[in-house]
Amino acid sequence: MEKKLIYSTELESLGAYDVVVIGGGPAGVCAAIAAARGGAKVALVEKTAMLGGMATSGLVGPFMTCYNREGEFPVVGGLFREIVERSMKVNGALCPDEIPAKSRYTSYIEKYHSNTTPIDSALLQIVLDDMVTENGVELFLYTQFVDCKTENSKIKQIVVATPGGLSMLEADYFIDCSSNADLAFKAGVPTWLGDEESGVPQAATLFFELTNVDDEKYLQRGGHKAYRTPEKGRYKVNDKHVMNVDPSNVRSMTVGHMEGRKLAIESFIDMKATMPGFENASLTQIASVLGIREGRHIKGKYMLTVEDVCNSTYFEDAVVTFGYGMDVHCRDAATRGGFRGESADWYTIPFRCLVPLNCDNLLVAGKTICAQSQAAGSFRVMPACMALGQAAGTAIAMAVQEHCNAGDVSVKELQTELVKNGAIILDNKNGIK
Ligand SMILES: Cc1cc2nc3c(=O)[nH]c(=O)nc-3n(C[C@H](O)[C@H](O)[C@H](O)COP(=O)(O)OP(=O)(O)OC[C@H]3O[C@@H](n4cnc5c(N)ncnc54)[C@H](O)[C@@H]3O)c2cc1C
Repeated sequence: MEKKLIYSTELESLGAYDVVVIGGGPAGVCAAIAAARGGAKVALVEKTAMLGGMATSGLVGPFMTCYNREGEFPVVGGLFREIVERSMKVNGALCPDEIPAKSRYTSYIEKYHSNTTPIDSALLQIVLDDMVTENGVELFLYTQFVDCKTENSKIKQIVVATPGGLSMLEADYFIDCSSNADLAFKAGVPTWLGDEESGVPQAATLFFELTNVDDEKYLQRGGHKAYRTPEKGRYKVNDKHVMNVDPSNVRSMTVGHMEGRKLAIESFIDMKATMPGFENASLTQIASVLGIREGRHIKGKYMLTVEDVCNSTYFEDAVVTFGYGMDVHCRDAATRGGFRGESADWYTIPFRCLVPLNCDNLLVAGKTICAQSQAAGSFRVMPACMALGQAAGTAIAMAVQEHCNAGDVSVKELQTELVKNGAIILDNKNGIK
């Protein structure tokens, strides 16, 4: 049996762009829209049939808190808020300002769980389709990034797998929102998997949805993680763990997803038998994509540390504010997951975390930016990923205008542009802006 196949082929170009964004999840959608609004010609490449990433194909929800730790004021605005408001108009979301902690919308969890946003995953797909289209982003669904060609520390072309076979896309700049740093890794950016010391990622979970739950009977009770969606009686469930799944390894993903399905069914049967309000629940869908909490992290110009999250370190180049705790799920059967340490009431993330080493025309956004694994346990949730996407997209549009390296844009101008567009960047040196 041959162990390796080497072959060369000619690829047709699907087009040339100022910016190509890989991955249409919360980070990628916001990156693409922000870059397009900044005047760039943008293509968005998504391997599944839908935008939204974990929020749609993964059935994950609610959007975690967008407020400070104490639940007093919002710390994420901008495109996140716009997506929520658009979703609310079609009954696809409830307003986070009105969602209390310790309610059926937060699975009765209190800590760090105020002001979450219950979402409908089906309606979100349509809202995001509309938003990227209205902003002139060219969308390629069913298109997976596979490889890239680099020259002098710049990505020149990328290879994508489409329903018609392999093709090529060209761009001056790229944003990696694949949530596993697929492009950054292939472009030669140093990366690591999971925990920076052990190399083990947090456990994965396959979400599922139940309908016909009796809201009034579902009262506080430990053990199961059922979150009410905007629709009466419909819940998203985030329950059992699949250990040690490597999102870059096809065998690991196959076995992990099948195990996730078995665990989802076990969980459903157990909930029906033991949970008040769930006796007549129906299993309507199991997510089509396994929920990977942690994959690769990139090495960038700055590594956000646990200390930064706990002490709210001041960063002159802050582009995102966040206030969720460091939510680190178990990595093996022997360890317990949960909130680690005490995060600051809010903290900021510097632009340098989005700027990878070794590649000059690339930014990275979403949960894979440069950070210690435990610190990423906080900003890996969706409101922060959207804010990171908006920051990356805004910065790359500026780089297009200035013909400079992606990491060399003026941070002051970037901050001004972000704030002008609704982003919240709090200033922990001079008091809140
Ligand atoms: C089990 C679980 C529970 C969670 N619970 C919550 C919660 O309650 N609230 C919350 O706010 N957050 C939660 N999170 C975190 C959150 O869902 C993710 O961290 C967040 O969605 C990350 O956003 P992203 O855009 O970086 O990545 P993703 O949402 O993963 O999106 C990445 C997108 O890129 C696409 N893609 C990947 N590789 C390629 C490629 N090579 N080519 C083309 N496309 C590609 C994917 O198909 C996907 O659409 C949870 C996560 C998990 C796994």
